[in-house]
Amino acid sequence: MTVILPPANLGLLGGGQLGRFFVQAARELGYQVWVLDPDPDSPAGHIAERHIATAYDDRSALDELTANCAAITTEFENVPALSLEYLAQTVRVAPAADAVAVCQDRIAEKDFLHRHGLPHGPYAVIRSAADIQAADSALFPGILKVARFGYDGKGQSRVSTRDEALEAFHRNADKSCVLEALLSLDAELSVVLARSETGQTECFPVAENSHRQGILDVSIVPARIPAALAESARQCALKIATALDYVGTLAVEFFVSNGTLSVNEMAPRPHNSGHYTLDACQTSQYAQQVRALCGLPLGDPSASSVAVMVNLLGDLWFDSGEPREPDWPALLAIPDLRLHLYGKSKARPGRKMGHFTVLGRDLPAVLATAMHARQLIGVRDDNRPGVA
Ligand code: ADP
Ligand code: MG
Repeated sequence: MTVILPPANLGLLGGGQLGRFFVQAARELGYQVWVLDPDPDSPAGHIAERHIATAYDDRSALDELTANCAAITTEFENVPALSLEYLAQTVRVAPAADAVAVCQDRIAEKDFLHRHGLPHGPYAVIRSAADIQAADSALFPGILKVARFGYDGKGQSRVSTRDEALEAFHRNADKSCVLEALLSLDAELSVVLARSETGQTECFPVAENSHRQGILDVSIVPARIPAALAESARQCALKIATALDYVGTLAVEFFVSNGTLSVNEMAPRPHNSGHYTLDACQTSQYAQQVRALCGLPLGDPSASSVAVMVNLLGDLWFDSGEPREPDWPALLAIPDLRLHLYGKSKARPGRKMGHFTVLGRDLPAVLATAMHARQLIGVRDDNRPGVA
């Protein structure tokens, strides 16, 4: 395999915050990044060498990328797999279109898990109203999720009954869905790993995640779970990466329900719950993405401290509907706290605007500092993961 060395140009599909951190990691090694994202105001586009602001399936834009970039990756799973296939005819693309295709369609994803004997919760594929009528009654109460293009809880409806499921299905214009049984969750976990073309695989420490309104709120690392459970999650994520013949950074989300592990979903890219690797690990999930893409050896994923990451959503920029600016100086006065803002010009409720990570030796103390820090800047305090 040829190694792509700096100062080559790398291409990136998607220009969100995950892409912004990829650009920073690539730059650190002396690469330059060209970003394709239709949004002219994209966080990665702002700091890229070049930002092509057009659709992901615009052939002339894709041609411009292949003409100028030595390798191309993605930070966004909803990029058309066809575009990745097209690019791959000319340059190295990692992860490959077929791996991304599995992760971007909940039906294909569940089928993949099933075929490989990987644990997943009870579900049914819903393509018509008749499928809802025929669904096992054990799937209620459940969650109906559109098969494609959902994220951050979008395209999902909690349904108690068949009638509610039908209503939600029609509300989503009869789009194909999966109906999952609503599990009672002991915990949510994620494993982020990187895999190279030679099969070298490096797993980051397992994160324990808590969500608010379907959006990641806080990640705690290492997860406060038995070592054997963390090891099963890692093994399961490794199995997935190998079965997908994956190249790049991959995230696997897990549920723990009644002490049992099941895979929730995969993301063919760095993950929000892996932001902590920027500040706590020897190599970040973004640096691994650059290394895997360029055929370089993967770095050491180990963490040199415990970490608690807190997402900062656009809600924080409003007080009873009135615009406000969070008190960044108060936050920045806290030792061992790293603040990252994504340079988005407009805050909207639910929009990911930034995050901070608190580092330290003692997890309960770090968690308490993180909770105190977000209170200082006015984050609503209705989710306090495991704090007495
Ligand atoms: P997204 O693509 O938006 O991340 P997920 O399928 O991961 O979608 O769902 C978002 C969150 O909703 C999960 O992290 C979890 O908190 C909750 N959730 C999703 N599916 C289930 C389920 N079957 N049972 C219980 N909670 C669920
Ligand atoms: Mg998820």
